[in-house]
Amino acid sequence: MRWFLTLWLHLISMSKFKIEREFVRTFGHIPEIIAAAPGRVNLIGEHIDYSDGYVLPFAIADRTYAAIGKRSDNLVRIASAQRRNSIITLKVEEIRPELKGSWERYVLSVLWAMEIKHGVDVMIDGQVPLGAGLSSSAALECSVATALNELFSCGFDLESLARLTQRGENEYVGVPCGIMDQSVSLMAKSGSALLLDCRDLTSRNVAFDVASHGLELLIIDTQAHHSLTDGGYAERRASCDRVVSKLSIRSMRELTLEKLENSKDVLTEVEFIRARHAVTEIARVLDAVIALEAKNFKRLGELLNASHASLRDDYAVSCPELNMAVDASLSAGALGARMVGGGFGGSAIALIEAKNTQATIQAVENGFASKNFKAPRFFTSLPSQGAEIIQRG
Ligand code: ADP
Ligand code: MG
Repeated sequence: MRWFLTLWLHLISMSKFKIEREFVRTFGHIPEIIAAAPGRVNLIGEHIDYSDGYVLPFAIADRTYAAIGKRSDNLVRIASAQRRNSIITLKVEEIRPELKGSWERYVLSVLWAMEIKHGVDVMIDGQVPLGAGLSSSAALECSVATALNELFSCGFDLESLARLTQRGENEYVGVPCGIMDQSVSLMAKSGSALLLDCRDLTSRNVAFDVASHGLELLIIDTQAHHSLTDGGYAERRASCDRVVSKLSIRSMRELTLEKLENSKDVLTEVEFIRARHAVTEIARVLDAVIALEAKNFKRLGELLNASHASLRDDYAVSCPELNMAVDASLSAGALGARMVGGGFGGSAIALIEAKNTQATIQAVENGFASKNFKAPRFFTSLPSQGAEIIQRG
């Protein structure tokens, strides 16, 4: 673990100098504050945030940096190291959700939600891969929110910042995301996963020290993005809503397998299996916490496998590329693997022995090549620290 911390501190200081240099080069003065926030991976608890379930995400080491300086006028200027040659400039009073724009809307959404009425220069440097299902959007929002909270002494606690940034992404950017991504990006602790109760948003850290057990999490970005022309996501949510209404419960959280079995007659076959995923997945998250607390990684692997099978067979949100990523990882000796995120493409994770990383990558690459799938991308990450201020003044 020690080498990881040393490496991490080294990377942070390099990134700090880089963003400071970019800020000075772009805006001609020195930033007053630099903050960083990580992307995330959800270990287990998929498609149950909207069913009042539990999720168990952890922060990855890759993070987005935000450097901010106050201005003496009412202008807001925004730039990103990933969007070269463009500085977006507008007046503070122009910031409102109806304003058209592009990626800078993620930054503006935070200024809007936190009601910052002061001119600022904002420089972004993101190292979370964009659009790989690792939540680069929450990393960006939470780095900006953490910097603004400090710079303007707003005094928001982490839960309030999570709600504000989520509101910004929902209402300003227009993406109907849940609260998981922002919560974990803000609250995660190094070497831990965050157990988040989506019903009341309470959370607690659960030790997830893979490194000292010689393990690693391999993230496999399948690079597949099957469009949901059949309204896949909406259909899943609608099925859950129908079950809730037919059984007169508030959410799937109140359902047990026994009650579900007894209600088989009033549900369609599809409603029954969608509900079965929700009920069993909620139970698996709690079982995963028990497994982690007992340092029983073999059991954790079994739960990841069961989660994947449920998402593939009952919830029907997997796809051939995700199944290949999971199957090839398991054939290379992974303790467990599953698709993560909404499905129909995106990423999978595999819990593997660190010494098997290369062999697992090779097995997945071979599997993809044999089916003529687009080549996947690989990332590894240990559970890392949430958002933090890395430089003041
Ligand atoms: P994910 O959050 O899974 O990476 P999203 O589509 O939710 O995917 O968010 C990605 C979007 O967030 C990008 O298309 C871009 O608009 C914005 N974004 C994230 N990081 C940066 C960055 N470093 N610079 C500019 N825009 C960024
Ligand atoms: Mg996102």
